[in-house]
Formats: sequence, C-alpha cells, structure tokens
Amino acid sequence: ESLINRIAAGEIIHRPASALKELLENCLDAGATSIRVTVKDGGMKLLQIQDNGCGIRKADLPILAERFTTSKLSTFSDLSRIRTYGFRGEALASISHVARLSVVTKTKTETCAWRAHYLDGALVEPKPGQTAEPKPCAGNDGTTIVIEDLFYNTPTRLSALRSASDEYSRILDVITKYAVHNPKVAFSCKKVGSPSPDLTTPSSSEVKQAIRLLYGHSIAKDLLHATIEDKNKNKSRDEDDAETRESWTAEAHYTNANYQSKKMVFLLFINHRLVESSRMKRALEAAYSGVLPKGASPFIYLSLQINPRDVDVNVHPTKKEVHFLNEDEITNQISDSLQKSLASQSQ
Ligand code: ADP
Ligand code: MG
Repeated sequence: ESLINRIAAGEIIHRPASALKELLENCLDAGATSIRVTVKDGGMKLLQIQDNGCGIRKADLPILAERFTTSKLSTFSDLSRIRTYGFRGEALASISHVARLSVVTKTKTETCAWRAHYLDGALVEPKPGQTAEPKPCAGNDGTTIVIEDLFYNTPTRLSALRSASDEYSRILDVITKYAVHNPKVAFSCKKVGSPSPDLTTPSSSEVKQAIRLLYGHSIAKDLLHATIEDKNKNKSRDEDDAETRESWTAEAHYTNANYQSKKMVFLLFINHRLVESSRMKRALEAAYSGVLPKGASPFIYLSLQINPRDVDVNVHPTKKEVHFLNEDEITNQISDSLQKSLASQSQ
C-alpha cells in the first residue's frame, strides 16, 4: 500500500518546484502577506516555506496530511473556497509519502505555536521514544512547512531530477511568477547559509512594479495593459445555452512592438493558479506576427478568470496542460484583442 501511495504522490509532486507551487498556493489561500522560502541543494535536501497567514488549528494537525482531508478540517468553514480554488487536499498528503514533512504553526488565538512531524500521511514521533503528538514551541502567527530529503524513498523520481542549480532556478521561476501575480505579497527566496536572498519583493506593490523588479526595466517600459471581457457576454441570455454560456474576464500585461527578445516569456494564471497552455501561448504569440520582426518574441502575463466549473485545472494535477470550456473561443478573443491593440500602437 505504501508503495502505491508513493507512486501516486510522485505523480503529483514531480520535483521541488512542484512541491513549492502547492505550498505557495496554501500560503496564499491562508491570506499570507509575507512568504519566505529557504532552499538547500535545489530543494532536494530542504525546502522551507514560512508564511504569516491564518495558521492551522492544533485540533487539525492530526489529520493534516491525510488524503482528501480538506473538508474535514475545522478551519474549513468557508465552502466558497472550494468553488474558487478547487481544493483537493492532496498536496501535504502526497509530500508526506515522498519526503519528511514537518509543520510549525500558530493561529492568532493560540498562545503558543505547535510543531508536528509527518510520514506516510500520519503524525510521527520526531525521535524514537518521543510521542507523535504535536508539541508546543515558540513561533509567530502563521505557518512554516519544512520538507526534507525529497524522494528519499522514490529513487526513480530522485534520479529524474536535474542538478541542484537547475532545480533551484525552477524554484525561483515559480516564485517569480507568483510574485508578479500577487504584488501585494512580499516574497523572498534564499539558499541556506546565504547572507542575502536571491529574490525579494516588497509588499503592497503593483503588477507593473513587480514585473520591473523581477523581469527588468526593458520589459516594464514597453508594457501595455488591457482588461479583456467576453464580448458575447449577454448574447445568448434567452437561448437554450444560456446556462453553459459563462462569461470570463482577462487582465493582460504585454510588451509592445518596441520590445524584442529572442525567447517568449508567458505567464498564465487561471483563477489565480499558475498553469500551462501551449495552445494559448502559440495563439498569443501569433498576435504579434507582423508587429515584431521575425525571431523576436513578446512577454505576456495573462490572468484569466473563468467559472471554476469550466476548468479542469484541478481535476488531475498530473496534466501539465490546462483545458477549459470554450477554450478556442476565449483564446481567439484574447488574441484578437491583443492584435488590435498592438496595431493601434504601431500607427
Ligand atoms: P488543499 O490545499 O487542496 O486543501 P493541501 O494538502 O495543500 O490541500 O492542504 C491541506 C489543508 O491544510 C489546507 O486546506 C489548509 O486548511 C491547511 N493548510 C496547508 N498549508 C497551510 C498554510 N500555509 N496555512 C494555513 N493552512 C494551511
Ligand atoms: Mg493546497
């Protein structure tokens, strides 16, 4: 059984950066305004994420790393969160099957923090002879999650990883993208023992400032911004498909014709989750044909909001590519909109 659990967990957690993505989303879900990441050996030895969010109640700690536990947690009172984020309750459970997981957490109402260690979905004693029960300790409001020795028991996963520096740059890439999407939140990332962070953003920033800080001045100065709405929004109100016709909105930040880079940078968030869509990427890059010289590529950051019912982003996390209802139509509308705006810019 534990082997099956390990294989299943490895399907969800591919590498340090994919574990980190899940943990970052948890911090953001918890309302954190500060998220500090510490890494050793590209996250293979240690991956630590400290947030100042709502914390986890002591009573919830025993079941925290159980699969599909989310709805059983006492903190989970707001059901609209399911609708918004599509909670699965699989991340911490999966991590506990392929790494050593520990948590230090404190809610506002608790007088001290609590520390707990997990293995294979359950609380474990940190050292032989000690009890598995959460122990009181000093700590600030919020949660620190520590993942050690990722894939220590899954050699095939471990051997599929790249060098520590390669894994570290993937980690930085994930944090960078979340930092652009969450400019009000302060992010930082550093290696263990390093005196200064490799990435740091202030709190209460704006998208454009975050892009300037993280991707550079040359992108930020050539940036356009558009809010794009479903142009068929109210069209079929009285028709049969009124129910299925859900409207959507998108916020796009994208470089103009002056910006020329060899490599396209594409950040796509759907309902605040970082996802990939090579179809969308290709379609939006095509909006620049005739605007940019051959071989030059844009920077595009797109935040798309659609009905959570219409997106299978959470259905199975092993699918890297996202799919959603009316994908082609939405993609075309956004692409058209960028094309028009670029055309009017270059006149
Ligand atoms: P999911 O996010 O899909 O619910 P996870 O395994 O990622 O599943 O997390 C399980 C639960 O643990 C979350 O629903 C949340 O209640 C709690 N949790 C995890 N990380 C944090 C955190 N950083 N701050 C507060 N609560 C957290
Ligand atoms: Mg989660």
